[in-house]
Amino acid sequence: AGRRTVAMVTGANKGIGRAVAEELAGRGMTVLIGARDGRRGEETAAALREAGGDVHALVLDVTDPATVQEAAKRVEESHGRLDVLVNNAGITGSGQVAPMDAVDQIPSSVDLEMVRAVFATNVFGVIAVTNAMLPLLRRSPAARIVNVSSHAGSLTLTSDPDGPFAALLPSAAYTPSKAALNALTVQYANELRKDGVLVNAVAPGFVDTDSNAHTGHLTPAQAAAVVVRLATLGEDGPTAGFFSEEGPLPW
Ligand code: NDP
Repeated sequence: AGRRTVAMVTGANKGIGRAVAEELAGRGMTVLIGARDGRRGEETAAALREAGGDVHALVLDVTDPATVQEAAKRVEESHGRLDVLVNNAGITGSGQVAPMDAVDQIPSSVDLEMVRAVFATNVFGVIAVTNAMLPLLRRSPAARIVNVSSHAGSLTLTSDPDGPFAALLPSAAYTPSKAALNALTVQYANELRKDGVLVNAVAPGFVDTDSNAHTGHLTPAQAAAVVVRLATLGEDGPTAGFFSEEGPLPW
């Protein structure tokens, strides 16, 4: 294993994940593009190599244990360790409909299968990937885990009747999945504090990507900034935190 920092980003073939991968590669890290579609992962890796990055694709569907195990095996064989894990892969559950417009997520009428699918990706997928990569992360002198959450995952913000988040359509799928991801972030951070692994959640803001049919106002590159900041923390950096670009967020 060389001394280059090795980072893996899930769901990195497009959107925020791709922008994070591009920025980490631009900082000289070896970046592994996790993508459930091997061809689109390879295309993204090739494009980022073209721009000068040391970028490689890995087939990784966070809901498919076989691909998760295979990806961990490949990282072990090619790099022997992992320094940065960005759990970015996520779905709204409503196709390309922003969560605040997703009428099919209204609690009283939601389809439980959709809730299961959203949790499978946004929550259980994070546990599966994190646990598969942890043995490799433990070999890093300065491991960092960043979970890409959302302002919608903040119980404080969403329960404030006078705040801007109370105006969102109620959601029994996406919003609780990000609250659960936030809770998981704290639990992993508490377990891994003694090992020097810093684990934080970030809210990227409302970003122009496929997940909301490009109605977001931030570019993926702008959104990537806070993710990259938490992925490159110094050893005295925070753990068990929740941050946006503007600073700490309430849980
Ligand atoms: P995109 O839909 O553009 O990208 C999502 C990425 O996740 C894609 O690469 C997608 O792969 C991948 N993905 C989905 N399911 C799986 C899976 N089972 N296994 C592996 N990869 C998977 O969305 P964004 O870039 O907007 O979202 C990235 C993260 O940011 C998500 O966690 C999202 O919840 C979060 N976020 C986004 C906001 C926004 O405004 N855009 C706001 C707040 C949070 P594929 O191309 O194959 O579908």
